Amino acid sequence: MNYRISQRAAALSPSLTLAIDAKAKAMKAEGQDVVGFGAGEPDFDTPQHIKDACAKALAAGFTKYTPSSGIPELRQAIADKFKKENGLNYKPSQIIVSCGGKHSCYNVIIATCQEGDEVIIPAPYWLSYPEMVKLAGATPVILETTDQTEFKVTPEQLRAAITPRTRLLVLNSPSNPTGSVYTPNEVKAIGDVCVEKGVLIMSDEIYEHLLYDGAVHRGVATFSQAHCDHTIVVHGFAKAWSMTGWRLGFLAAPEPIAKAIDAIQSHSTSNPNSFAQKGAVAALTGPQDHLQTWLAEYAKRRSFAHQKLNSIPGISCVNSKGAFYLFPNISKLGLQSTDFCARLLEQEKVAAVPGIAFGADDYIRISYATSLANIEKGLDRLERFARTLKSQPA
Ligand SMILES: *Cc1c(COP(=O)(O)O)cnc(C)c1O
Repeated sequence: MNYRISQRAAALSPSLTLAIDAKAKAMKAEGQDVVGFGAGEPDFDTPQHIKDACAKALAAGFTKYTPSSGIPELRQAIADKFKKENGLNYKPSQIIVSCGGKHSCYNVIIATCQEGDEVIIPAPYWLSYPEMVKLAGATPVILETTDQTEFKVTPEQLRAAITPRTRLLVLNSPSNPTGSVYTPNEVKAIGDVCVEKGVLIMSDEIYEHLLYDGAVHRGVATFSQAHCDHTIVVHGFAKAWSMTGWRLGFLAAPEPIAKAIDAIQSHSTSNPNSFAQKGAVAALTGPQDHLQTWLAEYAKRRSFAHQKLNSIPGISCVNSKGAFYLFPNISKLGLQSTDFCARLLEQEKVAAVPGIAFGADDYIRISYATSLANIEKGLDRLERFARTLKSQPA
């Protein structure tokens, strides 16, 4: 039998973050004392009232197919969220509930991009974006940024990268993996270029609520009707409500794009889990006070980790303003990020994700979605490891 794999599938790289996570978990299962900085998910439990709403729906037999783009009650609650928190006027028909924010991103790209199209992705990027673009048959165009500019692209850099083939810009603020947050003015300036050039924006705002030091999030769609008409907002329940395993994301799009995504979803996944959607309604309409508690905890860990990382010879780290990641620069320690992380895991049993996975080999990603005690232990080990490497002259 010839198991020929399609060109599209064969072109994919498997997720390096999931691979590291699997290796660390296997070491843990063997009884080794591994400190995990690899997680891309909150270490807090889903708030009880959300679980209760889901359990209640399940017990009541809410177990059948729903409309493929989500139950009307949830789409309305999402439209209300956009109105109340972002000042955006979406009809429920413009809202699509998907099987995770990742699925929302995939749907956007597959619905808007095709062979011959270019998609601009600022690096460091969330590692799934370029692979999704390749799956759509389009070409990722990577825009490099560094810690010198807090990993943000400038309007000039964007303008220079736009060609007649440019279809979409991927904007992710607050960012995974860097935690950097564009200011409202910076977002507007990026949006202005896209509006002028007729480029769509996929704005991944899943970390919208995770902000520190007074940082402000403002979505690109909020600056004018034209900005909104060029934007698809992607969001989800995974991060701010700690619902990673529930597989629920959502998006808001101009009507024709929402319609196309509805059709795609109706022929691929159909609806996201029915009773999980009832939990999501409770997430949006219920109390939000869990968030203040989580943010206070994240902020403490972030301050500690940021300070500790910068105290390690050869490592420098700009402070993040959002999400739950730091992205220290390890280039002075003379190892590529993959070797660095492999040896760190071998020698010190600390799991971190090599920056190369995000298109930035000079860095590693540290997730502080783990206890302060773990962070202290893990960073002490990282320091011991770094001191065994020869710091390279700048
Ligand atoms: C976590 C994450 C998502 C969505 O994750 P799901 O678990 O699929 O909801 C989307 N974008 C970024 C940048 C993320 O970090």
